[in-house]
Amino acid sequence: MNESLLELTLEIIKAKSENPPGNESEVADIIKSRLKNYLNFKEIITGKDRINLIFGEGLDLVFNGHMDTVPIGNGWNHNPYGEYTEGKIYGRGASDMKGALSSLIISIEDIVDNGQKDLLKKCKFAFVADEEAGSKYGTKAILNEIKGKYGIVMEGSVLNEKIYIRPGVRGSLWLKIVSYGKSAHSSNPESGINAVMNLAEILIGLKNMKLNYKKHPYLPDPTMSLGTTIRGGEKINVIPDYAEATIDIRTITGMDNNEILSEIENRIKRLKNINDSIDFEILKIEENPAAEISLTSEIIKKAKKVINEVAGYSPGIMGGTGSNDASHMILNGTETLVLGPGDFVNDHAHGKDEFITLERLEKFVKIYGGLIKYA
Ligand SMILES: [Zn+2]
Repeated sequence: MNESLLELTLEIIKAKSENPPGNESEVADIIKSRLKNYLNFKEIITGKDRINLIFGEGLDLVFNGHMDTVPIGNGWNHNPYGEYTEGKIYGRGASDMKGALSSLIISIEDIVDNGQKDLLKKCKFAFVADEEAGSKYGTKAILNEIKGKYGIVMEGSVLNEKIYIRPGVRGSLWLKIVSYGKSAHSSNPESGINAVMNLAEILIGLKNMKLNYKKHPYLPDPTMSLGTTIRGGEKINVIPDYAEATIDIRTITGMDNNEILSEIENRIKRLKNINDSIDFEILKIEENPAAEISLTSEIIKKAKKVINEVAGYSPGIMGGTGSNDASHMILNGTETLVLGPGDFVNDHAHGKDEFITLERLEKFVKIYGGLIKYA
């Protein structure tokens, strides 16, 4: 059992970095104290308590891992600040992705301990902020600092203890639909316009909308989740003059966000032909395009070779449902692969009792170490 790997993972999980509110300073302090003696580093502050750390100056291979986590939430049976039981490390961020951070840190330390410090020269190691809330204070803000030939984003690529590689990620398009009405006393509803009811009509009207796309060889089909949040109305006896709902659309490469937006707009306009009191606005909250690298990329060859050496098999290709920082790096010209110890189906990432197995983290110490060696 790798004691130092276990200790470091528990230490990083214990350091709070829930986002929202967003504060990476505790985690950043731990990472700085571990790596500052081995590599030059740069600290890029992008907001109050929003910290990005970049170690090393190599441009051949850039590692990217996020330090923030989603909020802890309720209902845990294990300690959300870190607990080790029967091979599993529990805690918020264990799988997504504090475990991966500690695998990378230990792999760097092992390389130094083996007297191979020169191997680190070809790499850059970025520990970033804000991935869980859109990356505005993280990867998106520091893209030029983390541009390299190849990249690894350490999001999970394991399923049922089998390691995969993810050469592409879906994109996301987050929208807010606002419905405007006219307030009135609800004992006399005819004198007002009910924004909530109009919003309900809009959402139901969009239910049958089909997204236009060409099936992708490995990414899952695009999805549209309507009304993921909904808000409106102030008082039981007042006709509401305002209501809003969010829509979470996940796209694949080849789709055009503007086309999606105009399709939504046209559909709502058609509803207006039946109900002319509908008064709406569509706001774009966040937009991250889908992106992929060529299956013949060198980084895929290197990853396959290393995984073969460590795990004894050639990894298959996984098309995860989520989107992540890899898309920003790919679109910025860095051929980036998603490769990490997390298993998003089985680890309860973002849920209660999130965990990762120590065995997987041990494997990824070797995998990340191998990638550094072949960079
Ligand atoms: Zn993540």
